[in-house]
Amino acid sequence: MSHVLAAVAWPYANGPRHIGHVSGFGVPSDVFSRYMRMAGHDVLMVSGTDEHGTPIQVQADKEGVSPRELADRYNRVIVEDLHGLGLSYDLFTRTTTGNHYAVVQQLFETLHRNGYIVPKVTMGAISPSTGRTLPDRYIEGTCPICGYEHARGDQCDNCGNQLDPIDLVNPRSKINGETPQFVETEHFFLDLPAFAQALGKWLDGREGWRPNVLRFSKNLLDDLQPRAITRDLEWGVPIPLDGWRDRSDKRIYVWFDAVIGYLSASIEWARRSGDPEAWRRWWSADGEGKNARGYYFMGKDNIVFHSVIWPALLLGYDGEGDRGGEPGNLGLLNLPTEVVSSEFLTMEGKKFSSSRQVVIYVRDFLARYDADALRYFIAVAGPESQDTDFTWAEFLRRNNDELVAGWGNLVNRSISMAAKNFGAIPPIDPAGLTEADEALLAAARTGFTTVGQLIERHRQKQAIGEAMRVVAEANKYLSEQAPWKLKAESDKPRMGTILHVALQVVSDANTLLTPFLPHSAQRVHELLGGTGVHAPMPSIEQVEDLDGGPGYPVLTGDYTVGAKWESVPVEAGRALATPKPVFRKLDPSIVDEELARLGD
Ligand SMILES: [Zn+2]
Repeated sequence: MSHVLAAVAWPYANGPRHIGHVSGFGVPSDVFSRYMRMAGHDVLMVSGTDEHGTPIQVQADKEGVSPRELADRYNRVIVEDLHGLGLSYDLFTRTTTGNHYAVVQQLFETLHRNGYIVPKVTMGAISPSTGRTLPDRYIEGTCPICGYEHARGDQCDNCGNQLDPIDLVNPRSKINGETPQFVETEHFFLDLPAFAQALGKWLDGREGWRPNVLRFSKNLLDDLQPRAITRDLEWGVPIPLDGWRDRSDKRIYVWFDAVIGYLSASIEWARRSGDPEAWRRWWSADGEGKNARGYYFMGKDNIVFHSVIWPALLLGYDGEGDRGGEPGNLGLLNLPTEVVSSEFLTMEGKKFSSSRQVVIYVRDFLARYDADALRYFIAVAGPESQDTDFTWAEFLRRNNDELVAGWGNLVNRSISMAAKNFGAIPPIDPAGLTEADEALLAAARTGFTTVGQLIERHRQKQAIGEAMRVVAEANKYLSEQAPWKLKAESDKPRMGTILHVALQVVSDANTLLTPFLPHSAQRVHELLGGTGVHAPMPSIEQVEDLDGGPGYPVLTGDYTVGAKWESVPVEAGRALATPKPVFRKLDPSIVDEELARLGD
Protein backbone atom coordinates (compact mmCIF):
# COMPACT_ATOMS: atom_id res chain seq x y z
CA MET A 1 0.00 0.00 0.00
CA SER A 2 1.13 3.45 -0.66
CA HIS A 3 -0.16 6.98 -0.21
CA VAL A 4 -1.51 8.54 -3.38
CA LEU A 5 -2.62 12.15 -3.68
CA ALA A 6 -5.15 12.84 -6.44
CA ALA A 7 -4.97 16.61 -6.87
CA VAL A 8 -7.80 17.69 -9.11
CA ALA A 9 -7.97 21.07 -10.91
CA TRP A 10 -10.09 23.68 -9.14
CA PRO A 11 -13.14 24.72 -11.18
CA TYR A 12 -13.60 28.49 -11.32
CA ALA A 13 -16.78 29.59 -9.57
CA ASN A 14 -18.02 32.21 -12.03
CA GLY A 15 -20.68 29.99 -13.56
CA PRO A 16 -21.85 26.40 -13.96
CA ARG A 17 -19.35 23.94 -15.43
CA HIS A 18 -19.94 22.23 -18.78
CA ILE A 19 -19.17 18.69 -19.85
CA GLY A 20 -15.88 19.81 -21.44
CA HIS A 21 -14.62 20.82 -18.02
CA VAL A 22 -15.51 17.59 -16.29
CA SER A 23 -14.07 15.50 -19.11
CA GLY A 24 -10.70 17.17 -18.55
CA PHE A 25 -10.30 17.10 -14.78
CA GLY A 26 -13.34 15.46 -13.17
CA VAL A 27 -14.06 12.02 -14.50
CA PRO A 28 -10.44 10.92 -15.20
CA SER A 29 -9.35 11.82 -11.66
CA ASP A 30 -12.29 9.92 -10.19
CA VAL A 31 -11.62 6.81 -12.29
CA PHE A 32 -8.00 6.89 -11.15
CA SER A 33 -8.85 7.46 -7.48
CA ARG A 34 -11.52 4.78 -7.38
CA TYR A 35 -9.20 2.23 -8.98
CA MET A 36 -6.26 3.09 -6.71
CA ARG A 37 -8.45 2.71 -3.62
CA MET A 38 -9.83 -0.62 -4.87
CA ALA A 39 -6.23 -1.76 -5.45
CA GLY A 40 -5.44 -1.04 -1.79
CA HIS A 41 -3.77 2.37 -1.91
CA ASP A 42 -4.49 5.11 0.58
CA VAL A 43 -5.88 7.82 -1.70
CA LEU A 44 -6.50 11.44 -0.80
CA MET A 45 -8.55 13.16 -3.52
CA VAL A 46 -8.92 16.89 -2.98
CA SER A 47 -10.07 19.99 -4.79
CA GLY A 48 -12.56 22.82 -4.46
CA THR A 49 -13.91 25.86 -6.20
CA ASP A 50 -11.47 28.60 -7.19
CA GLU A 51 -13.22 31.78 -6.11
CA HIS A 52 -10.91 34.77 -6.23
CA GLY A 53 -9.77 36.94 -9.09
CA THR A 54 -11.05 39.65 -11.32
CA PRO A 55 -13.62 37.72 -13.38
CA ILE A 56 -15.66 36.96 -10.25
CA GLN A 57 -15.34 40.58 -9.10
CA VAL A 58 -16.48 41.82 -12.52
CA GLN A 59 -19.37 39.37 -12.76
CA ALA A 60 -20.50 40.29 -9.22
CA ASP A 61 -20.37 44.01 -10.08
CA LYS A 62 -22.49 43.33 -13.13
CA GLU A 63 -25.12 41.50 -11.07
CA GLY A 64 -25.02 43.95 -8.16
CA VAL A 65 -23.99 41.29 -5.63
CA SER A 66 -20.82 40.84 -3.60
CA PRO A 67 -18.08 38.56 -4.99
CA ARG A 68 -18.66 36.28 -2.02
CA GLU A 69 -22.38 35.98 -2.84
CA LEU A 70 -21.56 35.11 -6.44
CA ALA A 71 -18.96 32.57 -5.33
CA ASP A 72 -21.43 31.06 -2.84
CA ARG A 73 -23.96 30.55 -5.61
CA TYR A 74 -21.64 28.81 -8.05
CA ASN A 75 -19.78 26.89 -5.36
CA ARG A 76 -23.10 25.24 -4.52
CA VAL A 77 -24.00 24.59 -8.17
CA ILE A 78 -20.60 23.02 -8.85
CA VAL A 79 -20.69 20.92 -5.66
CA GLU A 80 -24.09 19.56 -6.70
CA ASP A 81 -22.91 18.82 -10.26
CA LEU A 82 -19.81 16.94 -9.11
CA HIS A 83 -21.94 15.05 -6.61
CA GLY A 84 -24.32 14.10 -9.43
CA LEU A 85 -21.42 12.66 -11.40
CA GLY A 86 -20.41 10.57 -8.38
CA LEU A 87 -16.91 12.07 -8.11
CA SER A 88 -15.40 10.60 -4.95
CA TYR A 89 -13.60 13.56 -3.41
CA ASP A 90 -12.28 13.07 0.09
CA LEU A 91 -12.72 16.80 0.33
CA PHE A 92 -14.07 19.23 -2.22
CA THR A 93 -13.85 22.62 -0.53
CA ARG A 94 -13.29 26.22 -1.69
CA THR A 95 -10.65 28.94 -1.65
CA THR A 96 -12.60 31.37 0.54
CA THR A 97 -12.05 29.45 3.78
CA GLY A 98 -10.04 30.73 6.75
CA ASN A 99 -7.86 27.63 6.47
CA HIS A 100 -6.97 28.36 2.84
CA TYR A 101 -6.14 32.00 3.59
CA ALA A 102 -3.80 30.94 6.40
CA VAL A 103 -1.97 28.33 4.30
CA VAL A 104 -1.60 30.71 1.33
CA GLN A 105 -0.19 33.42 3.57
CA GLN A 106 2.19 30.96 5.19
CA LEU A 107 3.59 29.98 1.78
CA PHE A 108 3.82 33.61 0.70
CA GLU A 109 5.72 34.57 3.87
CA THR A 110 8.19 31.69 3.56
CA LEU A 111 8.84 32.34 -0.13
CA HIS A 112 9.36 36.00 0.70
CA ARG A 113 11.72 35.18 3.59
CA ASN A 114 13.69 32.85 1.31
CA GLY A 115 14.08 35.66 -1.22
CA TYR A 116 11.89 34.29 -3.99
CA ILE A 117 9.24 37.01 -3.78
CA VAL A 118 10.50 40.47 -4.63
CA PRO A 119 8.76 43.87 -4.90
CA LYS A 120 8.86 45.67 -8.21
CA VAL A 121 7.35 48.81 -9.73
CA THR A 122 5.44 47.81 -12.79
CA MET A 123 2.92 49.13 -15.27
CA GLY A 124 -0.69 48.22 -14.53
CA ALA A 125 -3.66 48.67 -16.84
CA ILE A 126 -6.54 50.93 -15.92
CA SER A 127 -9.70 51.78 -17.79
CA PRO A 128 -9.40 55.44 -18.95
CA SER A 129 -13.18 55.91 -18.73
CA THR A 130 -13.65 54.66 -15.14
CA GLY A 131 -10.15 55.01 -13.68
CA ARG A 132 -10.46 51.50 -12.24
CA THR A 133 -8.01 48.67 -12.65
CA LEU A 134 -8.81 46.71 -15.77
CA PRO A 135 -8.73 42.98 -15.03
CA ASP A 136 -6.19 41.01 -17.04
CA ARG A 137 -8.72 38.61 -18.43
CA TYR A 138 -10.74 41.49 -19.77
CA ILE A 139 -7.85 42.84 -21.78
CA GLU A 140 -7.52 41.23 -25.15
CA GLY A 141 -4.86 41.71 -27.76
CA THR A 142 -2.43 40.00 -30.09
CA CYS A 143 -0.04 37.53 -28.43
CA PRO A 144 3.54 38.86 -28.76
CA ILE A 145 4.84 35.28 -28.90
CA CYS A 146 2.61 33.45 -31.37
CA GLY A 147 0.57 36.25 -32.99
CA TYR A 148 -2.80 34.85 -31.86
CA GLU A 149 -5.23 37.77 -32.04
CA HIS A 150 -7.40 36.92 -29.05
CA ALA A 151 -4.79 36.46 -26.31
CA ARG A 152 -5.95 37.45 -22.82
CA GLY A 153 -4.07 39.83 -20.54
CA ASP A 154 -2.85 36.99 -18.35
CA GLN A 155 -2.42 34.09 -20.74
CA CYS A 156 -2.49 33.13 -24.40
CA ASP A 157 -4.82 30.19 -24.91
CA ASN A 158 -3.23 29.45 -28.26
CA CYS A 159 0.42 28.94 -27.21
CA GLY A 160 -0.19 28.57 -23.46
CA ASN A 161 2.31 31.27 -22.46
CA GLN A 162 1.60 33.50 -19.51
CA LEU A 163 1.46 37.17 -20.36
CA ASP A 164 1.15 40.57 -18.76
CA PRO A 165 -1.38 42.96 -20.24
CA ILE A 166 1.36 45.39 -21.25
CA ASP A 167 2.95 42.67 -23.42
CA LEU A 168 -0.08 42.51 -25.70
CA VAL A 169 0.12 44.06 -29.12
CA ASN A 170 -2.87 46.34 -29.75
CA PRO A 171 -4.46 45.82 -26.30
CA ARG A 172 -8.18 46.56 -25.91
CA SER A 173 -10.79 46.25 -23.19
CA LYS A 174 -13.17 43.37 -23.72
CA ILE A 175 -15.75 45.28 -21.71
CA ASN A 176 -16.04 48.37 -23.89
CA GLY A 177 -13.32 48.13 -26.54
CA GLU A 178 -11.29 51.10 -25.25
CA THR A 179 -7.49 51.04 -25.21
CA PRO A 180 -6.23 50.58 -21.64
CA GLN A 181 -3.93 53.12 -20.05
CA PHE A 182 -0.83 51.85 -18.24
CA VAL A 183 0.21 53.49 -14.97
CA GLU A 184 2.95 52.76 -12.40
CA THR A 185 2.01 50.45 -9.55
CA GLU A 186 4.01 48.40 -7.05
CA HIS A 187 3.61 44.64 -6.95
CA PHE A 188 5.29 41.49 -5.73
CA PHE A 189 6.89 39.16 -8.22
CA LEU A 190 7.77 35.50 -8.01
CA ASP A 191 11.36 35.10 -9.15
CA LEU A 192 10.75 32.20 -11.53
CA PRO A 193 14.21 32.33 -13.17
CA ALA A 194 15.66 31.36 -9.76
CA PHE A 195 13.94 27.99 -10.19
CA ALA A 196 14.96 27.27 -13.80
CA GLN A 197 17.74 24.91 -12.82
CA ALA A 198 15.82 23.08 -10.11
CA LEU A 199 12.74 22.76 -12.33
CA GLY A 200 14.84 21.46 -15.22
CA LYS A 201 16.41 18.82 -13.00
CA TRP A 202 13.01 17.84 -11.64
CA LEU A 203 11.45 17.59 -15.13
CA ASP A 204 14.42 15.56 -16.40
CA GLY A 205 13.70 13.01 -13.68
CA ARG A 206 10.04 12.56 -14.62
CA GLU A 207 9.01 9.19 -16.01
CA GLY A 208 5.83 7.98 -17.64
CA TRP A 209 4.36 11.41 -18.39
CA ARG A 210 2.35 11.85 -21.55
CA PRO A 211 5.10 12.93 -23.99
CA ASN A 212 3.29 16.08 -25.16
CA VAL A 213 2.84 17.27 -21.57
CA LEU A 214 6.51 16.76 -20.70
CA ARG A 215 7.71 18.39 -23.92
CA PHE A 216 5.41 21.38 -23.41
CA SER A 217 6.56 21.76 -19.79
CA LYS A 218 10.25 21.66 -20.69
CA ASN A 219 9.72 24.26 -23.40
CA LEU A 220 8.23 26.61 -20.81
CA LEU A 221 11.58 26.64 -18.97
CA ASP A 222 13.33 28.29 -21.92
CA ASP A 223 11.76 31.63 -21.19
CA LEU A 224 11.03 31.98 -17.48
CA GLN A 225 10.34 35.55 -16.38
CA PRO A 226 9.53 36.94 -12.94
CA ARG A 227 5.73 36.79 -12.57
CA ALA A 228 3.54 39.29 -10.75
CA ILE A 229 1.72 37.51 -7.93
CA THR A 230 -0.25 40.47 -6.58
CA ARG A 231 -2.88 42.63 -8.26
CA ASP A 232 -4.74 45.88 -7.82
CA LEU A 233 -7.91 44.27 -6.61
CA GLU A 234 -10.01 44.12 -3.44
CA TRP A 235 -11.17 40.52 -3.80
CA GLY A 236 -8.60 37.94 -2.75
CA VAL A 237 -6.17 36.86 -0.04
CA PRO A 238 -4.48 39.82 1.71
CA ILE A 239 -0.71 40.20 1.35
CA PRO A 240 0.76 39.05 4.70
CA LEU A 241 3.59 41.59 5.00
CA ASP A 242 3.93 44.67 7.18
CA GLY A 243 2.62 47.73 5.38
CA TRP A 244 0.57 45.57 3.03
CA ARG A 245 -1.54 43.44 5.32
CA ASP A 246 -4.17 46.11 5.90
CA ARG A 247 -4.33 47.55 2.40
CA SER A 248 -7.73 46.90 0.90
CA ASP A 249 -6.63 47.62 -2.70
CA LYS A 250 -3.90 44.98 -3.10
CA ARG A 251 -4.45 41.27 -3.08
CA ILE A 252 -2.56 38.07 -3.86
CA TYR A 253 -3.21 37.07 -7.46
CA VAL A 254 -5.75 34.29 -7.91
CA TRP A 255 -3.47 31.78 -9.63
CA PHE A 256 -0.96 31.99 -6.78
CA ASP A 257 -3.62 31.18 -4.19
CA ALA A 258 -5.50 28.59 -6.25
CA VAL A 259 -2.57 26.19 -6.80
CA ILE A 260 -1.90 26.23 -3.05
CA GLY A 261 -5.41 24.81 -2.68
CA TYR A 262 -4.09 21.26 -3.12
CA LEU A 263 -2.10 21.66 0.07
CA SER A 264 -4.65 23.72 2.02
CA ALA A 265 -7.47 21.29 1.13
CA SER A 266 -5.32 18.38 2.34
CA ILE A 267 -4.72 20.23 5.61
CA GLU A 268 -8.43 21.06 5.93
CA TRP A 269 -9.30 17.41 5.32
CA ALA A 270 -6.85 16.38 8.08
CA ARG A 271 -8.21 18.97 10.52
CA ARG A 272 -11.72 17.67 9.89
CA SER A 273 -10.62 14.03 10.21
CA GLY A 274 -9.64 14.43 13.87
CA ASP A 275 -5.93 13.99 13.12
CA PRO A 276 -4.67 17.46 12.10
CA GLU A 277 -1.28 16.08 11.06
CA ALA A 278 -2.69 13.34 8.79
CA TRP A 279 -2.03 15.39 5.65
CA ARG A 280 1.71 14.79 6.13
CA ARG A 281 1.31 11.20 4.89
CA TRP A 282 0.82 12.64 1.38
CA TRP A 283 3.02 15.71 1.58
CA SER A 284 6.00 15.51 3.95
CA ALA A 285 9.04 14.92 1.75
CA ASP A 286 11.34 14.09 4.67
CA GLY A 287 8.79 12.34 6.88
CA GLU A 288 5.89 9.95 6.61
CA GLY A 289 5.00 11.21 3.12
CA LYS A 290 8.46 10.39 1.75
CA ASN A 291 7.19 7.65 -0.55
CA ALA A 292 3.83 9.20 -1.37
CA ARG A 293 2.91 9.93 -4.98
CA GLY A 294 0.97 12.96 -6.19
CA TYR A 295 -0.99 13.05 -9.46
CA TYR A 296 -2.42 16.32 -10.74
CA PHE A 297 -5.39 16.27 -13.14
CA MET A 298 -6.34 19.15 -15.43
CA GLY A 299 -7.03 20.38 -18.94
CA LYS A 300 -4.06 21.37 -21.08
CA ASP A 301 -4.62 25.11 -20.61
CA ASN A 302 -3.52 24.65 -17.00
CA ILE A 303 -0.27 22.74 -17.55
CA VAL A 304 1.95 25.75 -16.81
CA PHE A 305 0.44 26.18 -13.35
CA HIS A 306 1.11 22.57 -12.41
CA SER A 307 4.39 21.74 -14.12
CA VAL A 308 6.15 25.08 -13.56
CA ILE A 309 4.48 27.43 -11.09
CA TRP A 310 3.27 25.04 -8.38
CA PRO A 311 6.58 23.10 -8.36
CA ALA A 312 8.42 26.45 -8.21
CA LEU A 313 6.38 27.52 -5.17
CA LEU A 314 7.14 24.20 -3.50
CA LEU A 315 10.85 24.41 -4.33
CA GLY A 316 10.98 27.95 -2.93
CA TYR A 317 9.12 26.88 0.19
CA ASP A 318 11.51 23.98 0.62
CA GLY A 319 14.50 26.33 0.12
CA GLU A 320 15.63 24.51 -3.03
CA GLY A 321 15.85 27.25 -5.66
CA ASP A 322 19.01 29.17 -6.64
CA ARG A 323 18.74 31.39 -3.56
CA GLY A 324 18.56 28.46 -1.14
CA GLY A 325 16.68 29.12 2.09
CA GLU A 326 15.03 27.20 4.90
CA PRO A 327 11.79 25.20 4.64
CA GLY A 328 8.75 26.82 6.27
CA ASN A 329 6.85 25.56 9.32
CA LEU A 330 5.11 22.79 7.39
CA GLY A 331 8.49 21.16 6.63
CA LEU A 332 9.78 19.86 3.31
CA LEU A 333 6.91 19.34 0.85
CA ASN A 334 6.59 16.88 -2.04
CA LEU A 335 6.59 18.04 -5.66
CA PRO A 336 4.11 16.44 -8.09
CA THR A 337 4.87 12.92 -9.29
CA GLU A 338 2.98 13.46 -12.51
CA VAL A 339 0.99 16.17 -14.24
CA VAL A 340 -1.83 14.33 -16.01
CA SER A 341 -3.23 16.73 -18.55
CA SER A 342 -6.10 16.12 -20.92
CA GLU A 343 -6.66 17.81 -24.24
CA PHE A 344 -9.83 19.70 -25.14
CA LEU A 345 -13.34 18.44 -25.79
CA THR A 346 -15.17 20.31 -28.52
CA MET A 347 -18.89 20.24 -29.13
CA GLU A 348 -20.28 19.32 -32.54
CA GLY A 349 -17.05 20.59 -34.13
CA LYS A 350 -17.01 23.91 -32.24
CA LYS A 351 -15.21 25.23 -29.19
CA PHE A 352 -17.42 25.31 -26.08
CA SER A 353 -18.79 28.81 -25.63
CA SER A 354 -21.31 29.78 -22.99
CA SER A 355 -21.97 33.11 -24.68
CA ARG A 356 -22.77 31.48 -28.03
CA GLN A 357 -24.79 28.68 -26.45
CA VAL A 358 -22.37 26.05 -27.77
CA VAL A 359 -22.42 24.34 -24.45
CA ILE A 360 -24.06 21.67 -22.40
CA TYR A 361 -23.90 22.21 -18.67
CA VAL A 362 -23.35 19.24 -16.40
CA ARG A 363 -26.62 19.97 -14.61
CA ASP A 364 -28.68 19.98 -17.83
CA PHE A 365 -26.99 16.82 -19.00
CA LEU A 366 -27.73 15.02 -15.74
CA ALA A 367 -31.36 16.17 -15.83
CA ARG A 368 -31.87 14.23 -19.07
CA TYR A 369 -29.31 11.40 -19.02
CA ASP A 370 -27.63 9.14 -16.50
CA ALA A 371 -24.30 10.06 -14.98
CA ASP A 372 -22.75 6.76 -16.08
CA ALA A 373 -23.74 7.37 -19.71
CA LEU A 374 -21.62 10.54 -19.65
CA ARG A 375 -18.84 8.88 -17.67
CA TYR A 376 -18.76 6.09 -20.24
CA PHE A 377 -18.54 8.51 -23.15
CA ILE A 378 -15.73 10.49 -21.50
CA ALA A 379 -13.76 7.34 -20.68
CA VAL A 380 -14.13 5.69 -24.07
CA ALA A 381 -14.15 8.73 -26.35
CA GLY A 382 -12.88 11.66 -24.25
CA PRO A 383 -9.92 13.99 -24.92
CA GLU A 384 -7.32 11.87 -23.13
CA SER A 385 -4.42 12.52 -25.47
CA GLN A 386 -5.88 14.51 -28.36
CA ASP A 387 -8.62 17.04 -28.90
CA THR A 388 -11.90 15.18 -29.30
CA ASP A 389 -15.34 16.15 -30.51
CA PHE A 390 -18.51 15.44 -28.56
CA THR A 391 -21.43 14.84 -30.90
CA TRP A 392 -24.90 13.78 -29.87
CA ALA A 393 -24.98 11.17 -32.63
CA GLU A 394 -21.82 9.58 -31.22
CA PHE A 395 -23.14 9.81 -27.67
CA LEU A 396 -26.33 8.03 -28.78
CA ARG A 397 -24.35 5.35 -30.61
CA ARG A 398 -21.96 4.71 -27.71
CA ASN A 399 -24.85 4.55 -25.26
CA ASN A 400 -27.13 2.33 -27.30
CA ASP A 401 -24.66 0.07 -29.13
CA GLU A 402 -22.01 -0.36 -26.45
CA LEU A 403 -23.43 0.38 -23.02
CA VAL A 404 -26.97 -0.95 -23.57
CA ALA A 405 -26.48 -3.60 -26.30
CA GLY A 406 -23.06 -4.71 -25.03
CA TRP A 407 -22.67 -4.52 -21.28
CA GLY A 408 -26.34 -4.01 -20.31
CA ASN A 409 -27.41 -6.92 -22.50
CA LEU A 410 -24.82 -9.27 -21.01
CA VAL A 411 -25.96 -8.42 -17.48
CA ASN A 412 -29.61 -8.64 -18.36
CA ARG A 413 -29.65 -11.89 -20.29
CA SER A 414 -27.34 -13.84 -18.01
CA ILE A 415 -29.15 -12.81 -14.83
CA SER A 416 -32.63 -13.23 -16.39
CA MET A 417 -31.87 -16.71 -17.68
CA ALA A 418 -30.39 -17.82 -14.38
CA ALA A 419 -33.27 -16.30 -12.38
CA LYS A 420 -35.89 -17.88 -14.63
CA ASN A 421 -34.37 -21.36 -14.77
CA PHE A 422 -32.73 -21.66 -11.36
CA GLY A 423 -34.00 -18.76 -9.20
CA ALA A 424 -30.45 -18.36 -7.95
CA ILE A 425 -26.84 -18.59 -9.08
CA PRO A 426 -26.62 -22.17 -10.43
CA PRO A 427 -23.80 -24.52 -9.40
CA ILE A 428 -21.07 -25.80 -11.69
CA ASP A 429 -21.84 -29.30 -12.99
CA PRO A 430 -19.57 -31.92 -11.35
CA ALA A 431 -18.63 -32.89 -14.93
CA GLY A 432 -16.48 -29.78 -14.79
CA LEU A 433 -15.58 -26.91 -17.06
CA THR A 434 -14.92 -26.99 -20.78
CA GLU A 435 -12.05 -25.29 -22.52
CA ALA A 436 -14.36 -22.47 -23.60
CA ASP A 437 -15.50 -21.96 -19.99
CA GLU A 438 -11.92 -21.84 -18.74
CA ALA A 439 -10.84 -19.48 -21.51
CA LEU A 440 -13.55 -16.95 -20.71
CA LEU A 441 -12.90 -17.10 -16.96
CA ALA A 442 -9.18 -16.60 -17.61
CA ALA A 443 -9.83 -13.60 -19.87
CA ALA A 444 -11.83 -11.93 -17.11
CA ARG A 445 -9.18 -12.68 -14.49
CA THR A 446 -6.40 -11.31 -16.72
CA GLY A 447 -8.42 -8.11 -16.97
CA PHE A 448 -7.58 -7.27 -13.37
CA THR A 449 -3.91 -6.96 -14.31
CA THR A 450 -4.24 -5.28 -17.71
CA VAL A 451 -7.06 -2.87 -16.90
CA GLY A 452 -5.49 -1.96 -13.55
CA GLN A 453 -2.07 -1.26 -15.00
CA LEU A 454 -3.55 0.86 -17.77
CA ILE A 455 -5.53 3.00 -15.31
CA GLU A 456 -2.48 3.42 -13.11
CA ARG A 457 -0.57 4.69 -16.16
CA HIS A 458 -3.44 7.05 -17.12
CA ARG A 459 -4.34 5.10 -20.26
CA GLN A 460 -8.03 5.09 -19.39
CA LYS A 461 -9.30 4.82 -22.94
CA GLN A 462 -7.32 1.62 -23.46
CA ALA A 463 -8.31 0.44 -19.99
CA ILE A 464 -12.04 0.64 -20.57
CA GLY A 465 -11.46 -0.88 -24.01
CA GLU A 466 -9.91 -3.93 -22.32
CA ALA A 467 -12.80 -4.17 -19.85
CA MET A 468 -15.33 -3.96 -22.68
CA ARG A 469 -13.39 -6.65 -24.55
CA VAL A 470 -14.13 -9.02 -21.67
CA VAL A 471 -17.80 -8.04 -22.03
CA ALA A 472 -17.70 -8.74 -25.77
CA GLU A 473 -16.06 -12.13 -25.22
CA ALA A 474 -18.72 -13.04 -22.68
CA ASN A 475 -21.49 -12.08 -25.11
CA LYS A 476 -19.83 -14.18 -27.80
CA TYR A 477 -19.52 -17.08 -25.37
CA LEU A 478 -23.22 -16.95 -24.53
CA SER A 479 -24.18 -16.84 -28.21
CA GLU A 480 -21.94 -19.83 -28.98
CA GLN A 481 -22.94 -21.89 -25.94
CA ALA A 482 -26.63 -20.99 -26.43
CA PRO A 483 -27.76 -22.09 -22.96
CA TRP A 484 -31.39 -21.33 -23.93
CA LYS A 485 -31.32 -24.43 -26.13
CA LEU A 486 -30.44 -26.69 -23.18
CA LYS A 487 -33.99 -26.97 -21.90
CA ALA A 488 -34.10 -30.76 -21.57
CA GLU A 489 -33.79 -32.04 -17.99
CA SER A 490 -30.60 -33.92 -18.90
CA ASP A 491 -29.03 -30.74 -20.31
CA LYS A 492 -29.83 -28.61 -17.29
CA PRO A 493 -26.55 -29.21 -15.39
CA ARG A 494 -24.63 -27.93 -18.43
CA MET A 495 -26.97 -24.94 -18.72
CA GLY A 496 -26.26 -24.20 -15.06
CA THR A 497 -22.52 -24.35 -15.64
CA ILE A 498 -22.69 -21.96 -18.59
CA LEU A 499 -24.77 -19.50 -16.59
CA HIS A 500 -22.52 -19.85 -13.56
CA VAL A 501 -19.51 -19.03 -15.76
CA ALA A 502 -21.39 -16.12 -17.36
CA LEU A 503 -22.39 -14.71 -13.98
CA GLN A 504 -18.84 -15.03 -12.70
CA VAL A 505 -17.66 -13.01 -15.68
CA VAL A 506 -20.48 -10.48 -15.18
CA SER A 507 -19.28 -10.07 -11.61
CA ASP A 508 -15.64 -9.69 -12.72
CA ALA A 509 -16.44 -7.31 -15.56
CA ASN A 510 -18.57 -5.29 -13.18
CA THR A 511 -15.58 -4.88 -10.87
CA LEU A 512 -13.36 -3.93 -13.83
CA LEU A 513 -15.92 -1.30 -14.85
CA THR A 514 -16.57 0.02 -11.33
CA PRO A 515 -14.05 2.90 -11.49
CA PHE A 516 -15.68 4.06 -14.72
CA LEU A 517 -19.36 3.31 -14.02
CA PRO A 518 -19.82 3.38 -10.24
CA HIS A 519 -23.58 4.01 -10.21
CA SER A 520 -24.46 1.09 -12.45
CA ALA A 521 -21.79 -1.08 -10.80
CA GLN A 522 -23.69 -0.78 -7.53
CA ARG A 523 -26.92 -1.85 -9.29
CA VAL A 524 -25.29 -4.81 -11.05
CA HIS A 525 -23.82 -5.88 -7.70
CA GLU A 526 -27.34 -5.88 -6.23
CA LEU A 527 -28.82 -7.73 -9.23
CA LEU A 528 -26.24 -10.45 -8.59
CA GLY A 529 -27.69 -10.77 -5.09
CA GLY A 530 -24.96 -8.72 -3.44
CA THR A 531 -25.66 -6.52 -0.45
CA GLY A 532 -23.90 -3.53 1.05
CA VAL A 533 -21.79 -0.89 -0.64
CA HIS A 534 -20.00 -1.95 -3.82
CA ALA A 535 -19.10 1.50 -5.17
CA PRO A 536 -19.07 4.18 -2.44
CA MET A 537 -20.56 7.55 -3.31
CA PRO A 538 -19.73 11.06 -2.14
CA SER A 539 -22.19 13.09 -0.10
CA ILE A 540 -22.75 16.81 0.33
CA GLU A 541 -22.28 18.01 3.89
CA GLN A 542 -22.85 21.49 5.24
CA VAL A 543 -19.86 22.32 7.48
CA GLU A 544 -18.71 25.15 9.69
CA ASP A 545 -15.62 27.08 8.66
CA LEU A 546 -12.84 25.82 10.95
CA ASP A 547 -11.59 29.33 11.58
CA GLY A 548 -14.79 31.21 12.26
CA GLY A 549 -15.93 32.21 8.76
CA PRO A 550 -19.33 31.41 7.25
CA GLY A 551 -20.31 27.75 6.75
CA TYR A 552 -20.33 26.08 3.34
CA PRO A 553 -21.13 22.78 1.62
CA VAL A 554 -18.35 20.25 0.97
CA LEU A 555 -18.22 16.97 -0.91
CA THR A 556 -16.80 14.13 1.10
CA GLY A 557 -17.32 10.44 1.76
CA ASP A 558 -16.17 7.21 3.34
CA TYR A 559 -14.42 5.29 0.58
CA THR A 560 -12.83 2.65 2.79
CA VAL A 561 -15.85 0.45 2.07
CA GLY A 562 -16.69 -1.15 -1.26
CA ALA A 563 -15.31 -3.71 -3.69
CA LYS A 564 -11.65 -4.62 -3.89
CA TRP A 565 -9.78 -4.95 -7.20
CA GLU A 566 -10.05 -8.74 -7.38
CA SER A 567 -12.20 -11.53 -8.73
CA VAL A 568 -14.69 -12.63 -6.07
CA PRO A 569 -16.15 -16.11 -6.69
CA VAL A 570 -19.93 -16.00 -7.18
CA GLU A 571 -21.68 -18.33 -4.75
CA ALA A 572 -23.92 -21.06 -6.14
CA GLY A 573 -27.34 -20.88 -4.48
CA ARG A 574 -27.28 -17.14 -3.85
CA ALA A 575 -30.67 -15.66 -4.71
CA LEU A 576 -30.75 -13.31 -7.71
CA ALA A 577 -32.71 -10.07 -7.66
CA THR A 578 -35.54 -9.54 -10.13
CA PRO A 579 -33.75 -8.48 -13.30
CA LYS A 580 -34.33 -4.98 -14.61
CA PRO A 581 -32.38 -3.04 -17.21
CA VAL A 582 -29.32 -1.28 -15.83
CA PHE A 583 -28.97 1.23 -18.68
CA ARG A 584 -31.51 3.28 -20.56
CA LYS A 585 -31.74 2.91 -24.31
CA LEU A 586 -32.08 6.37 -25.84
CA ASP A 587 -34.44 7.26 -28.65
CA PRO A 588 -32.63 8.52 -31.78
CA SER A 589 -34.85 11.61 -31.69
CA ILE A 590 -32.70 13.01 -28.86
CA VAL A 591 -30.04 13.95 -31.42
CA ASP A 592 -32.27 16.46 -33.21
CA GLU A 593 -33.73 17.69 -29.94
CA GLU A 594 -30.30 18.39 -28.52
CA LEU A 595 -28.98 19.99 -31.69
CA ALA A 596 -31.96 22.34 -31.65
CA ARG A 597 -30.87 23.50 -28.18
CA LEU A 598 -27.44 24.53 -29.43
CA GLY A 599 -26.78 28.02 -30.68
CA ASP A 600 -24.88 29.08 -33.80
ZN1 LIG B 1 0.39 32.99 -27.97
